[in-house]
Amino acid sequence: MAEQGNTVRRSEQKNPAGRTKFIFITGGVLSSLGKGLAAASIGALLESRGLKVTLQKLDPYINVDPGTMNPFQHGEVFVLDDGAETDLDLGHYERYTSARLTQRNNFTTGRIYYSVITKERRGDYLGGTVQVIPHITDEIKRNILAISDDADVAIIEIGGTVGDIEGLPFLEAIRQLKTDLGRENSLYIHLTLVPYIKTSEELKTKPTQHSVMKLREIGIQPDILICRTDQFLPPEIKAKIALFCNVDQDAVITAKDVESIYEVPLFFHQEGLDDKIVQMLNIWTRSPHLEKWQEIVYAIKNPRGAVDIAIVGKYVNLKDSYKSLNEALIHGGIANRCKVNLHYVDSEAVQKDGVEPFLQGADGVLIPGGFGERGIEGKIMAVKFAREMRVPFLGICLGMQLAVVEFARHVCGLEGANSSEFNAGTAHPVIALLPDQQTIVDKGGTMRLGAYPAVLQDESLANQAYQEKQISERHRHRYEVNNNYRELLAEKGFIFSGLSPDGRLVEILELGDHPWFLGCQFHPELKSRPHTPHPLFREFIHAALKEKRKKRRKNV
Ligand code: GLN
Repeated sequence: MAEQGNTVRRSEQKNPAGRTKFIFITGGVLSSLGKGLAAASIGALLESRGLKVTLQKLDPYINVDPGTMNPFQHGEVFVLDDGAETDLDLGHYERYTSARLTQRNNFTTGRIYYSVITKERRGDYLGGTVQVIPHITDEIKRNILAISDDADVAIIEIGGTVGDIEGLPFLEAIRQLKTDLGRENSLYIHLTLVPYIKTSEELKTKPTQHSVMKLREIGIQPDILICRTDQFLPPEIKAKIALFCNVDQDAVITAKDVESIYEVPLFFHQEGLDDKIVQMLNIWTRSPHLEKWQEIVYAIKNPRGAVDIAIVGKYVNLKDSYKSLNEALIHGGIANRCKVNLHYVDSEAVQKDGVEPFLQGADGVLIPGGFGERGIEGKIMAVKFAREMRVPFLGICLGMQLAVVEFARHVCGLEGANSSEFNAGTAHPVIALLPDQQTIVDKGGTMRLGAYPAVLQDESLANQAYQEKQISERHRHRYEVNNNYRELLAEKGFIFSGLSPDGRLVEILELGDHPWFLGCQFHPELKSRPHTPHPLFREFIHAALKEKRKKRRKNV
């Protein structure tokens, strides 16, 4: 093409990220509009058009990672194969796409400053004044560009809401990136709220206008607006938003509230979102294959049965604390074409009022992971109930450890048996730190994080579920089954059906004389996907359904 003087047309500008194009997602008006789900759904749609995607979350808080944050404050910590403790949005990314995520896919203000300050101390800035612009923003840009690899599209989600003071360096960095990358290689998508006001029976666009104004003040003109609302936006409202916010009318996308989160990609497609994205980024692709999303939604909406699962835990009032667990249980339901009703039970209430009022009608009992002593005895009571009443049981991490404590106390006769996490002086520390962990005082250093392999015993429940001999699962814990008690526990009926390849660590245990009782030291919920439900959740729900039907037959 003819060059005009020295000017290079934008579309011919060299992309410093190779072939990768970037989508930046920001949020306005208020938090919790579902930015993570929107990012994940966009990833799913682009993948279904044959593109390779990757995703990244930028969190504006000062913690270096969310690992040190209380689940009450921040929801669950999502652990990746490489052991990175990340924001729960990475869970959505993994459930919706096949992107392989690592530590690089999530970073915080804390991590950025940590790295800039380390460089400053090392003398890398050679006497210069270290400032937010350009040093912090350059570090942010470097971290964003570093994830491109060979992806066709990288989706970058900026945490927080436009207008937050702490988000400014991130927004400034992505503002600069549009110039660095070129117009056809970058796209800004802004998620806002269009509330319906009942008294005047009107959809209101003002919050969206203000939030876009705020973005434009800092130099970002959004290309696409995704509007959270409980009604479809009529054309005149879209036209109004388009006019006031300076975007194309077909770039105003309705994000209506949905029954199941797995409908979001389908709704977005119906609204033309993926077409608009590829058009604006100038990408040629096939039309999307969305059958697998349609199948999942169909299975969720047309169940053939239902089970009631009691989840006995501590963080029961904040559903975000058990995000992946909820999803994995729903996936287990998809695999069995049944609805899974989740009942959160506060373990302290069980401790106070006994198990019966809470667990009487449960078809399955699940004890999730956790830290700290509160409610522990209530959870042990719940294990005892599930074991004795032959209710299908799944114990995850802390849940497995407490299954050992319960069995040691009530079947092996080890009075006062406990985890040394809760009673350092117990006569029977059936769950304890490994001998080589005990000398480390810094708690962070003793955590077993990320993917570890396990070898499964033939014909065990675990082996039947996975249909594999060796598996790999994600961990986040300090304590382990104490090997000094393994022989006694096995003698009394425990089956250690999953062990680390060297045999030193117990990964899975089960009970022989029980319909389905399994505990695992890892977190299977972190690897469950709607399209490939995790084998342990699939089998747990299957057992719950089977026992429920058996019981019903008996009662007839
Ligand atoms: N608190 C237990 C440990 O550290 C269990 C951790 C968990 O459930 N994630 O070993």
